[in-house]
Amino acid sequence: MWIDLDKRAITYLPGVGPRKAEILQKELRLVSFEDLLYYFPYKYIDRSRFYKVAEVNGNMPYIQLKGRILYFDTVGEGRTKRLIGKFTDGTGMIDLVWFKGLSYVTDKIRPGTEYIVFGKPNEFGQVVNIPHPDIDPLDQAGQVASGLAPFYHTTEKMKKSFLNSRAIQNLQYNLLHAIGWEVQETLPYWLRQKIQMMPLSEAIRNIHFPESIEKLNQAQLRLKFDELFYIQLNILRTAGLRKMKLKGIVFPTVGDYFNLFYAKYLPFELTGAQKRVVREIRADMGSGRQMNRLLQGDVGSGKTLVALLSMLLAVDNDCQACMMAPTEILATQHYATVMAFLKDMDIRVALLTGSTKKSVRNKILPAIANGEIQLVIGTHALIEETVSFASLGLAVIDEQHRFGVEQRSRLWSKSAVPPHVLVMTATPIPRTLAMTLYGDLDVSVIDELPPGRKPIKTLHRYDNKKAELYHFIRKEIHAGRQVYVVYPLIEGSEKSDYKNLEEGFELYKEIFPEYKVCMVHGRMKAAEKDTEMQKFISGEAQILMATTVIEVGVNVPNASVMIIESAERFGLSQLHQLRGRVGRGADQSYCVLVTSFKLSNDTRKRLEIMVNSTDGFEIAEADLRLRGHGDLEGTRQSGDGIDLKIADLGADGQILQYARDIALEILNEDPNLDAETNQILNERLKSLFARRTNWGMIS
Ligand code: ADP
Ligand code: MG
Repeated sequence: MWIDLDKRAITYLPGVGPRKAEILQKELRLVSFEDLLYYFPYKYIDRSRFYKVAEVNGNMPYIQLKGRILYFDTVGEGRTKRLIGKFTDGTGMIDLVWFKGLSYVTDKIRPGTEYIVFGKPNEFGQVVNIPHPDIDPLDQAGQVASGLAPFYHTTEKMKKSFLNSRAIQNLQYNLLHAIGWEVQETLPYWLRQKIQMMPLSEAIRNIHFPESIEKLNQAQLRLKFDELFYIQLNILRTAGLRKMKLKGIVFPTVGDYFNLFYAKYLPFELTGAQKRVVREIRADMGSGRQMNRLLQGDVGSGKTLVALLSMLLAVDNDCQACMMAPTEILATQHYATVMAFLKDMDIRVALLTGSTKKSVRNKILPAIANGEIQLVIGTHALIEETVSFASLGLAVIDEQHRFGVEQRSRLWSKSAVPPHVLVMTATPIPRTLAMTLYGDLDVSVIDELPPGRKPIKTLHRYDNKKAELYHFIRKEIHAGRQVYVVYPLIEGSEKSDYKNLEEGFELYKEIFPEYKVCMVHGRMKAAEKDTEMQKFISGEAQILMATTVIEVGVNVPNASVMIIESAERFGLSQLHQLRGRVGRGADQSYCVLVTSFKLSNDTRKRLEIMVNSTDGFEIAEADLRLRGHGDLEGTRQSGDGIDLKIADLGADGQILQYARDIALEILNEDPNLDAETNQILNERLKSLFARRTNWGMIS
């Protein structure tokens, strides 16, 4: 019989009193034995041997050297000032480098004395150095356990209570000792044989106390596999069951609405990618099972039109369709777009948002309920209880990540048979992330922009070159264009962020007295925001200053310049989203990334990618590699968040694919995991996902 992994509270562990338990819970959310066991080291220092200076290269992990500093040298000035220790062990010379605490180092470390040096070698051009190494006198280092020493992330608060990395290591030891160095296996024997991975107990032991680099690698592989495998198994099982259970509305006909529009009113040829996606959607909606499709496409790739065509298919089959947008501005814009496309067709369309007047609402709601209105475009107002449809056949959700899964699920309840669902997002999601977040959705990609678009030119400028920037803005406005200026608004620094925006607003008004400057931000009332936005949309204002509220979907084709202030504070995907606000008209568009002079290496890389690439997928992949999935836009909302303890979606794509293939293979044989030999899987799934609502059933 299955025994669950250890749920005992951490307080029962020797060395953990109530106070430490509280800190561990508050700082790291570690509550049970199992939580602690799955709190893995983030790095290891190889203390198994001393490396020779002559063999050191930039690809090595943390290593240790034994030798002497010959002399210290100080180079650079101000911010670039650094201390260099010329270190040798007789086989060669290497620079130890400090940027901070220079005098502390020169006070403590004596040239000529033998020390043990720990650090991560870095390669800079052709030169290898070790920045900020730990330096121990020989006799102290002698007491350190040999082998690979684990290092655990800790917080300032933890350190104050003596819960540093070493203390966590001791707790792990006590814990493993308490449970006899064994944990319950999570993969059936037959599966472990098949994939040739080490038992879980061995993996857990080696992740905390590696016997060797080889064992550590195997342990990491096993634990990453476990983590990704169970996520996939969960998603795919749920999706499979849903497909078996839920019949979808069948849309067998392509009828008059679709054909008439396509033949007569579509103002341009669809791109190849649009055609392909429309075909995919048609196949889905005609298949007899409910469609759950994620439509990804860069800003401006023409998703709205694909949505419209899909909605016409629903209408052709005597169903209604709705399109839900995350903001009032967007919903209104979609409504205007759709109305313009359909102006010569006999089809009844309504707009429903939070600010739809009561008198209008009183007319619309019954008409939706009795089927008179065929298409409804709106905001969250669409999922309020008062709204009911006669026969909702398709729900399109635009800019998916602004909606919680829960909200999506409420659309479902609007119809006896679940409507087909098309989720559109302009945030390109790397494949690995899509497989993990939306593994149960089918994915369509529009990877082609409508013809005739000029690629946006992206420039990086330091903020001490403002005069040139203003000159450039003036030139563009003079040529009839409009300009966005965006300021960051980041959790935790809202106060100073808003101040920056307000000050910027005043400054721009002074610098450009001949033009009208308007401003929108999240603290404004909806009506005020709309008024300001309208000034820009109508062309009355030439410059729009904003926080990231304009990120989503706003479409002003005449705006051809996007200035992003403090661009170093934005993530790559966000920068890409912002940039997508321009380049929508026929004119050459520009995006200017304005930053301060002092930039970290990562930031420089980010900016370089932005300057060199306009491909949303490429950028999203790079973002995933640079920042890790935890920070990615779209992964933080409640319910959808993924909390990976060891796997890295940026680096472990192959393991993920393997885990998914295996999960699929198992489910093909045994969709509900009923077989005796699959009971471990069943139980582990329950234990892992029991506390979560089963979103797979309702997304
Ligand atoms: P998205 O929602 O993907 O950002 P939109 O649907 O708003 O993009 O389309 C951007 C612009 O391109 C719109 O003005 C739209 O009318 C236009 N457009 C869409 N498809 C085509 C096409 N095949 N050829 C030319 N223009 C197109
Ligand atoms: Mg759009």
